[in-house]
Amino acid sequence: MFKFCQVVWASPNSLLGILIGLLGMVAGGRMRYRAGCLEFWGGGVAWGLRSLPIRPVAMALGHVILGVDSATLERVGPHERIHVRQYERWGPFFIPAYGLASWWVWQRGLRAYRDNPFEVEAYNDDERRAALAEVVASDQVGDVRHKSPRVG
Ligand SMILES: [Zn+2]
Repeated sequence: MFKFCQVVWASPNSLLGILIGLLGMVAGGRMRYRAGCLEFWGGGVAWGLRSLPIRPVAMALGHVILGVDSATLERVGPHERIHVRQYERWGPFFIPAYGLASWWVWQRGLRAYRDNPFEVEAYNDDERRAALAEVVASDQVGDVRHKSPRVG
């Protein structure tokens, strides 16, 4: 029930994302449903993203993720899903809050995009995942070298 409420709360943004995604599909874009989100990429979606002033490779709008291509969605999907969680918290206020946050950090001499608290949360999660992947990878190498079970 709570999840349903989050989806409804974020739905004005999702509807905007679906509209953009469908327009992108008319111009050759593709769509799939994955892990609670509709993902649109390629065709008019890619063109639209590349036409924006900051030329993002992907962007979340509610439970919709737009990307330039499928591989990019694969790569940045976890980052965009942090933004989806933010949409679930902020609902229709997410886009104004994101814009205000960018303006606020920029006024303080920081970077409007990278120092925006919403991006800081998403990038911190990217770093946590990268660090975890490194630990898992080194652990697997360790398991090959040392046959004895490791504790920790
Ligand atoms: Zn981001």
